[in-house]
Amino acid sequence: MKPAPFTYHRARDVAGAVALLAELGEDAKYIAGGQSLVAMMNFRLARPAHLVDLGGLRGELAYIRTDGGVLRLGALTTHHQVENAPLDPGFAVLRDAMGWIGHLPIRTRGTVGGSLAHGEATAEWCLLAVLLGAEVVVQGTAGLRLVPAEELFLGFFTTALEPEEMIVEVVFPRPAPHAALTEFAERRGDYAVVAAAVDLDAERVVLGGVAPVPLRVPEAEAVLARGGTFAECAEAAAAAIDPPADGSGGADYRRALTRTLLVRACEEAMLR
Ligand code: FAD
Repeated sequence: MKPAPFTYHRARDVAGAVALLAELGEDAKYIAGGQSLVAMMNFRLARPAHLVDLGGLRGELAYIRTDGGVLRLGALTTHHQVENAPLDPGFAVLRDAMGWIGHLPIRTRGTVGGSLAHGEATAEWCLLAVLLGAEVVVQGTAGLRLVPAEELFLGFFTTALEPEEMIVEVVFPRPAPHAALTEFAERRGDYAVVAAAVDLDAERVVLGGVAPVPLRVPEAEAVLARGGTFAECAEAAAAAIDPPADGSGGADYRRALTRTLLVRACEEAMLR
């Protein structure tokens, strides 16, 4: 299918794009890599009357900077740029997780900011941002604000962003040398049925595909904190969650995947 008609606008700078979106109202949307939005428009799940293309801001917003153990990614940085970046070993989990996102053509266009704004609960960037305690820098009409990743995701494809707010940067405040993300998808390149991410240094566990948002699991984190085994950690996570059932699998299946994937993620994280 083809999308419903829309008017195309090209952003020239961040402030101008935010002002334009505020002026156009809720019928307008930003488009970055287009890898989620265009599919939704083609299926008529989204019918924005105006698209504000952020492609012209790549010079300003596509960057990877490390500064004293803090990693900053511009919102228009692509998955592929991160996959190929000579990242500090403490952020290798980000680079390694990129291989799970779709296929190469998707990774060369899709952006970090677009993934976070889209807010898919199994999207790798959403899990990684929560796992590493990232802060999302957002530009609105009143200026910049910082949104902790854990407060960004409110529900199924729902974020704390105001309609005109633009993600401009994602800040990862500390390295995670013993962290890993792993997942199971029905076909290579699909979104995960269940994804498991762990940071052994910070004793954080985040799951995707078991709730409407990327889910931290305090019960599993408590097992890591008291020095329990990885199997105990995974068992605690499986017991704590209440996963949905859909065409990709029932709740028991997702609990079984959680047990397997979380042990695998812990082992990968330990071996880094
Ligand atoms: P767009 O599609 O351009 O926009 C998505 C949404 O974010 C829109 O609502 C848009 O208005 C908004 N937006 C974009 N940029 C900003 C910004 N800077 N500030 C505020 N709002 C903004 N993703 C995964 O994570 N894992 C997968 O396994 C995966 N598999 C895929 C398989 C296929 C076949 C396809 C087509 C896509 C897949 N994706 C997957 C999605 C891909 O990662 C997208 O790149 C990503 O979800 C959205 O990034 P984008 O830049 O393309 O955003």
